[in-house]
Amino acid sequence: MAFENLSEKLQKALRKLTGKGKISENDINQASREIRLALLEADVNFKVVKKFIKTIKAEALGKEVQESLNPGQQIIKIVNDELTKMMGSDTASIIEAKHIPTIIMMVGLQGTGKTTTVGKLANYLIKNKKARPLLIAGDIYRPAAIDQLKTIGASLDVPVYSENNTDVVAIVENGLMQADRNHNDYVIIDTAGRLEIDDQLMDELKNIVDVAHPENIILVADAMTGQVAATVAEGFNSKLKLTGLILTKLDGDTRGGAALSIREVTGLPILFTGQGEKLTELDTFHPDRMASRILGMGDMLSLIEKAQQDFDAKEAEKVAQKMRENTFDFNDFVDQMDQMQKMGPLDQIIKMIPGMANNPALKNFKVPDKQIAHTKAIVYSMTPAEREDPDLLNPSRRRRIAGGCGLSVVEVNRMIKQFKQAKDMMQKVTSGNFKGLSNLPGM
Ligand code: GDP
Repeated sequence: MAFENLSEKLQKALRKLTGKGKISENDINQASREIRLALLEADVNFKVVKKFIKTIKAEALGKEVQESLNPGQQIIKIVNDELTKMMGSDTASIIEAKHIPTIIMMVGLQGTGKTTTVGKLANYLIKNKKARPLLIAGDIYRPAAIDQLKTIGASLDVPVYSENNTDVVAIVENGLMQADRNHNDYVIIDTAGRLEIDDQLMDELKNIVDVAHPENIILVADAMTGQVAATVAEGFNSKLKLTGLILTKLDGDTRGGAALSIREVTGLPILFTGQGEKLTELDTFHPDRMASRILGMGDMLSLIEKAQQDFDAKEAEKVAQKMRENTFDFNDFVDQMDQMQKMGPLDQIIKMIPGMANNPALKNFKVPDKQIAHTKAIVYSMTPAEREDPDLLNPSRRRRIAGGCGLSVVEVNRMIKQFKQAKDMMQKVTSGNFKGLSNLPGM
């Protein structure tokens, strides 16, 4: 699986920062060194790495991070945001023409997966845009390519225009006329590839551009080739003005460097990634999701953002401090409930934690408002000393409390148990250990 190594190393470097109350410059330097190495090992372009590390360091050392509740998590968020930016921030898409047909020209070196990707794209357009595409077989030097495209076309029930002719410009012109006659809304032109970029190939491709005027000139690049993919993209782009990229073979044993640096090096958006040999194995490229996946973050980032938005930072810092000093008491428990209620339904918040969203135990998990009201009633029936020291709560005190709030002793006992579990869980979160979260009450 692509990125496995990189993902592991980045997570390892960042894990060391989570749970720390303060992060020193030294910590940041060390993490930066590890991140830098991980990126270079993943074959990310070194200039891209240099710029990335510089930004991360500057932001991590910033006042905002240093004064935040959990600087480690803030740094993860910074790394995630920068990774996303590196890959292009927004999800790009194929430009659709105002008039029909939309013409897509596919270019790339031999063996990168161009012909296969023509088929994948046709399939994508049919499924997502109810398109009626026509494919033009413009890779005339490799007879097998024409047959391959015909086979792909037949399997998708998509027409393929081909000629037994060496004049590829004429083939494309004739193919476009056929698309007009048949009212195809998309035309995808497969073109010849070479082992490397040469002038003859570029001239031929330019001639096709002159007659077809494609809105989309997409380079198919092989992610397995790492940085070479970026160099190739630059070469094609300087001659043809590409509009986007498709990275193939991201399912393979690639180190991922191409996906990480090609955007920054070329300025071109990655539109899709190929994730296998089958015609269905084409994925829209979402830089943000890819970054989260690399960092193994799940929806944790949305959770951090939400906490940032809704939590009173001073209040939260107070709680974190109490967690560290192990002095979290029933008063804080009630305060926490108020804070959590501000963020929205607790069950939904918990599901944003990585690994929790699909946890079957959580399927019907709900924290009813009534339960929160009961918890508060129990706490309000305690003496100030009891609220501060749960260990005082012997059976006779528990009976008195139950009588005071009109609930059963069983309910009082349950609430005290839940308090202890919650305390335990929060201590794990504050120390950056999410593993114990499955022990939450009700899970
Ligand atoms: P072309 O010479 O650029 O037209 O390349 P082809 O379309 O003939 O593909 C070359 C080889 O790469 C074929 O064996 C394809 O099945 C394979 N291939 C294409 N895309 C992918 C992909 O995303 N993942 C994997 N694993 N193999 C791919």
